Amino acid sequence: MSSTWHILGAGSLGTLWACRLARAGKAVRLILRDEQALARYQAAGGLTLEEHGKRHHYAVPADTAQTAGPVHRLLVACKAYDAAPAVAALAPRLAADAELLLLQNGLGSQDEVAEQVPTARCIFVSSTEGAFRQAPFDVRFAGHGHNWLGDPRHPEPPPWLDELSDAGIPAQWSVDILTRLWRKLALNCAINPLTVLHDCANGGLLARLAEVDALCKELALLLQRCGQPAAADDLVGEVQRVILATAANYSSMYQDVHAARRTEVHYLLGHACRAATRHGLALPGLEQLHQRLVDTLQARGLPSV
Ligand code: NAP
Repeated sequence: MSSTWHILGAGSLGTLWACRLARAGKAVRLILRDEQALARYQAAGGLTLEEHGKRHHYAVPADTAQTAGPVHRLLVACKAYDAAPAVAALAPRLAADAELLLLQNGLGSQDEVAEQVPTARCIFVSSTEGAFRQAPFDVRFAGHGHNWLGDPRHPEPPPWLDELSDAGIPAQWSVDILTRLWRKLALNCAINPLTVLHDCANGGLLARLAEVDALCKELALLLQRCGQPAAADDLVGEVQRVILATAANYSSMYQDVHAARRTEVHYLLGHACRAATRHGLALPGLEQLHQRLVDTLQARGLPSV
């Protein structure tokens, strides 16, 4: 099996992973959206990663989904709403036993991808690293963090896991990846939508802790019902700690809305509300929050799914 790391999507995280793997001498190939994106990439002459104020350039080879050649190992680095269509376009090139690493935040997109590639192994990733695009193919590594990888269907780690540490990508195998993703989703639901609705930095929620606590109680009920009691453990305490520790920061959803970018709401609060409905669980505070968020996004002309 080829050990080339194919990277689908050369945005913030795709660039961050591609540059570190290339720097460590691993075989890496980018898969870009179309011929126009490929032409823009070739004109840029490669990827640039800025880290600790230093800019480094990596001429990572690139092609598109239409280029010939099998793909055995694929890092899906698109937004949650783009992941399944992007993988579907690549499906003819994917080996039957391909391994996919899914970097998407939230839940729901992983299952959408798995439906496109039923024989492939889908490894879910929960990342606390932070990066953003300063210009096309030019990314700043903004926050050091960690990556947990796991496969809800197979508890065994893949044999290449150490390649990530070799490349300076902090990664650890997690047998409870769904619990981690649910916990992160719950933290996001308790904080991010309120920062959009109240037009504030995370610290602005310190004046609205009763509203936050009520949401946490509903989220904890949902996590219990979804078979994720560990993800519910002291949720309200962690949410308050995150709000305090990041008081001056603006949430990713706030930043997306203010930059008129599509949000991943469908895979965050939307996923939570759909899961509650599926379990016949009435969570009026969460439902109302979702409706207010959808109304706000629509009023701004942004997609609400
Ligand atoms: P991003 O900067 O928007 O990058 C996504 C990339 O995917 C874009 O370059 C986009 O191309 C590309 N893409 C979309 N459809 C494609 C297709 N069909 N073929 C090829 N490329 C395609 O997003 P991101 O910030 O890296 O986030 C990726 C995921 O990681 C999200 O779910 C996010 O929540 C999660 N995450 C991000 C961070 C972070 O710090 N950035 C941290 C933790 C988790 P275009 O530019 O042409 O649209």
